[in-house]
Amino acid sequence: MKKLLLTSALLAALPLVVQASDVTFRAGTYEASADGIHGPVVVKTTFSEHKIDSIRIVKQTETEGIGTVAASELPKKILNAQSTKIDGIAGASITSKAIFSAVNKCIEQAGVKPDQLIPVITKKQTKEEKLSADMVVVGGGGSGMAATIEGRMRGLKVVLVEKMPYIGGAAAISGGQVVAQGSKLQKQFGSTKDSPESMMKDFLANGHNLNDKRMLSLYAHNVGQTIDWLHDKVGVKFIPNDLPY
Ligand SMILES: Cc1cc2nc3c(=O)[nH]c(=O)nc-3n(C[C@H](O)[C@H](O)[C@H](O)COP(=O)(O)OP(=O)(O)OC[C@H]3O[C@@H](n4cnc5c(N)ncnc54)[C@H](O)[C@@H]3O)c2cc1C
Repeated sequence: MKKLLLTSALLAALPLVVQASDVTFRAGTYEASADGIHGPVVVKTTFSEHKIDSIRIVKQTETEGIGTVAASELPKKILNAQSTKIDGIAGASITSKAIFSAVNKCIEQAGVKPDQLIPVITKKQTKEEKLSADMVVVGGGGSGMAATIEGRMRGLKVVLVEKMPYIGGAAAISGGQVVAQGSKLQKQFGSTKDSPESMMKDFLANGHNLNDKRMLSLYAHNVGQTIDWLHDKVGVKFIPNDLPY
């Protein structure tokens, strides 16, 4: 099989020694909080006279793998920049905003206006890496992850490319319920009268008959075997619930 070559540019941020903003903080440790997506994000920031010395997230209940990425990465970035006027973490904008806001409140408690802090410039160095693969999947949502797993099961070397700092796509934040129509699992759970036609009827009623019928039919005739594949081959555990699915 022809190998696909993939070149990835890895960005390594190398902080340069540059002049920090010419401000004077009231040295000490200050605590502040701001609302994240699931509750308060509490931050403790320590200042010496001319520098932010440390930023610690002391409490947060953000989404695992999304908001928690911002909670672990952003304090380091703010510290390197000595300013909150930097980009947040892609995909975790609400948590990022909460961290910026809480750190800004600490900066104010230390007697400085956050806007006075000009970000320290960091030089970005591009490092090229060449990867070879039989199959390249672009996008690590449910579809891309399934394609990757199936490719690996068939013995292919697969590279999955994801633009976000986490994989999962919409499934990472979805409700977590799935249609099991037509699966062996659905029958095992005691539902034996379902059919693609019945599922399509439900979906069309729910979608005010505006659904793409070709796609809906594809879904209704394949979802059962997809659930069985996830259960039997991938090892996903499903729990029946009270919803009418
Ligand atoms: C809030 C919410 C709740 C939901 N609840 C349910 C539910 O309970 N049950 C259910 O069955 N469905 C639910 N859904 C729908 C379901 O989650 C989606 O239909 C499904 O996850 C879509 O998967 P996908 O792989 O097709 O697309 P996506 O999940 O959108 O994945 C696409 C991926 O590609 C990446 N990408 C895009 N462009 C590039 C690029 N240029 N380079 C690299 N990567 C790229 C994206 O970052 C993303 O990770 C819900 C959706 C949402 C938003």
